[in-house]
Amino acid sequence: MLVKPLLKPCHNVHRAENGDVYVGEAAHVAYKVKQPPAAFIDLLLLLDGSRTLPRIVRDLRNRHPTASQAWIETTIDQLHRAHLLIDGALQSEVLSGNEIELYDRQMLHFVLLEQGSQPGFVYQERLKAQRVVVLGMGGWGTWLSLNLALLGFGRLTLVDGDYVDLSNLNRQVLYRPDHVGVAKVEAARETLNAVNPHVAVVTRHEFVEADERQVQAVIGDATLVFLAWANQSHFVRNTAEEIVHRCAIQRRIPIIEIAGDPLDVAVGPVFLNDGVAPCNFCIRDAVRASWYGKSDSLTHGRKASLRASPVKRANAWQSAPSLSIIAGIAANEATKVAAGFTRPGLVGRRLNLSLDGYRSSIEAFNSKPDCPHCAMARSGAEPEAS
Ligand SMILES: [Zn+2]
Repeated sequence: MLVKPLLKPCHNVHRAENGDVYVGEAAHVAYKVKQPPAAFIDLLLLLDGSRTLPRIVRDLRNRHPTASQAWIETTIDQLHRAHLLIDGALQSEVLSGNEIELYDRQMLHFVLLEQGSQPGFVYQERLKAQRVVVLGMGGWGTWLSLNLALLGFGRLTLVDGDYVDLSNLNRQVLYRPDHVGVAKVEAARETLNAVNPHVAVVTRHEFVEADERQVQAVIGDATLVFLAWANQSHFVRNTAEEIVHRCAIQRRIPIIEIAGDPLDVAVGPVFLNDGVAPCNFCIRDAVRASWYGKSDSLTHGRKASLRASPVKRANAWQSAPSLSIIAGIAANEATKVAAGFTRPGLVGRRLNLSLDGYRSSIEAFNSKPDCPHCAMARSGAEPEAS
């Protein structure tokens, strides 16, 4: 039972011409009450999180003497069962008043989507508890880190050995002209500290190699890992990405990969690495087959593109819009994984979106029943084969 019932602050109330009342504006969660008595609106006004039930009964009956205690209790119970109420007596012991105000609008967003009675700060506290490692601070990593800092993920470890170049500034959102020549991770930290001082930013100025000891050190005590560089591990053995995935599965740390090019955005799957949802090794064959395609010319072309280029002219053809879209979707999934207010939509699934014609599709991937990595995640033991 709620100590001090509070109508979820994400819900406005509207009255239709025929007297019906709608609680909530989002169509799929609005709750309709058919022509309630006049006391109903006043009851909703009293559900402000400052009153206990006896006080609500007393205050409402002062204005509406005919409203019975049984009707008031039943109505509050129905609103609670419809996930419209939270407990105003609960207060965060983790977030400061400044943070509660800072994150107010997104906490409304979390509460709007959750199917329970948790106050928004519960989800925000979960974000603050996150320790995120972002591998790669180029276009994808900078947009992603900006999103994560705005959202209030508690600690970001930025990993990149590169320096800011003038040609980065058209799209790598954290860098300014005066950062040219500065280590990317240091420039990024400066900007992120200014964006949200409540987020701890740790830097590692290094390139991650195919070295398990280095990867283990970089992942450290992470709760979430982002791979924000082009992943070759579906096609080449023993890459740094493959080792990152293997280490993360050993520790059951979720990984989100972020990639795509200016015309074709691809986000997912989100790898929970829980031994149930497919891991990176489960989907390798399917990803390879999908990328190679079904026509001979496409397959030959794509296989050729994996070979060393005899005439290599560019290594990144990107602009800000596609990067911000990709990073926004990935951060949206990360927020669901970390805060748990709703289910992530890209576990075992990949969203493909054309930014040219705006066609979209979802590819689904299955777990392999005999995957040794998933078996390890389930049992906590080392895999017999990789
Ligand atoms: Zn697996």
